[in-house]
Amino acid sequence: MNVLVINAGSSSLKYQLFDMETEKILAKGLCDRIGIDGHLKHKPTVSDKKVFDEAISLPTHAEAISIVIDKLTSDDYGVISCLSEINAVGHRAVHGGRKFFGSALINDEVIMILEDCIRLAPLHIPANLMGIRACQIAMPGVPQVAVFDTAFHHTIPEHAYIYPIPYKYYEENDIRRYGFHGSSHRYVSAIALEHLNNTTGDTKLITCHLGNGSSLAAVKNGKSIDTTMGVTPLEGVPMGTRCGSVDPSLVDIIAAIDDLSIKDTMDILNKKSGVLGIYGKSSDFRDIEIAAGYDMDTGFDDPDSSPDKRARLALDVFCYQVAKFIGSYIVALGGLDALIFTAGIGENSPYVRRAICDHLKGIGINIDEQVNAVRAGDFLDITAENSTSKVFVIPTNEELVIARDTMEIIFNRK
Ligand code: AMP
Repeated sequence: MNVLVINAGSSSLKYQLFDMETEKILAKGLCDRIGIDGHLKHKPTVSDKKVFDEAISLPTHAEAISIVIDKLTSDDYGVISCLSEINAVGHRAVHGGRKFFGSALINDEVIMILEDCIRLAPLHIPANLMGIRACQIAMPGVPQVAVFDTAFHHTIPEHAYIYPIPYKYYEENDIRRYGFHGSSHRYVSAIALEHLNNTTGDTKLITCHLGNGSSLAAVKNGKSIDTTMGVTPLEGVPMGTRCGSVDPSLVDIIAAIDDLSIKDTMDILNKKSGVLGIYGKSSDFRDIEIAAGYDMDTGFDDPDSSPDKRARLALDVFCYQVAKFIGSYIVALGGLDALIFTAGIGENSPYVRRAICDHLKGIGINIDEQVNAVRAGDFLDITAENSTSKVFVIPTNEELVIARDTMEIIFNRK
């Protein structure tokens, strides 16, 4: 059984083809600059097949999918012999609104509900729908599943998801905290639970998905009870280019300073803020850590560097805010068994993990700094002997969650 996992953005489409007997990736790739000039990077994992990495015309998502299928089935680059070897398609869907508590088999009703969710995620859902429609055209009859970023957080209690604004916006317009990165929080919390070996059934985890977009979740007994992102992914900790939680009056103030519309002001908070806004030169944590004078391997000061003050400040603001949310989630959970770091920064930056955990020493959370500098690429327990809670690094795998959910929904197989 092979499952094709699709993550469609407005001008990009990422894919991975899984063999679900082994859960191994047969091929993966990225269609980029769709609707602009087009570029495809296709990477088979089968040794005698070639990588394709070239500019190629991709006017729409439909052409992108059809070129991906060509590559997947071609003699030189392919890993399957024909289209019928794709048994199902799983789509990452960013927002499921108040209707979806789990993954769903895509049919006309699901598409209608997704269309209704556009008002909650106007940037993301139209792109997800383009991906779904493109697959329906290219692979008629192949069952498709939507896996929602918001679904894992449907267990958040009312007191954590209701915003203190007039209640009618919740009742009439579905405005509430939804949260995102659900597949990632779900995947790493399940792995952490396996390693904790806690048989009491009473477990308290905080998962920190720290990447270009970052969010934290408080996970009690395997269920999300709070998360930092809100009705949109703008809320919570500062991110690469998003401001995270700030005083909402800033919208008014910035609009007045620069004579901007609300839309243009929101663009600043979404695309020009976060660590990019503070440092000014890059949103990439590797660039910022190097500019700040940290050794990327150890996470400690690089003695040969001349640190850029704003790069250091950007990292300080980020790590402080993440630590503050961790503190608040220890309150929400009533304690902590394990703190989990995942995603591009969480998995790869010894500096960020150490700087966040430095803020947590006062509440008994300590990491082993030697182990923290190990680049494992796999599960890593960085807990120090004197720590009151475990601290784990767990590589996330959102695509595998989507592939597994797709199998479960279509073939009733876990
Ligand atoms: P993601 O969105 O999960 O792909 O994460 C992307 C972020 O991870 C970018 O800001 C990268 O700079 C960051 N990242 C990747 N590798 C490293 C590394 N070795 N050290 C620090 N940050 C990293």
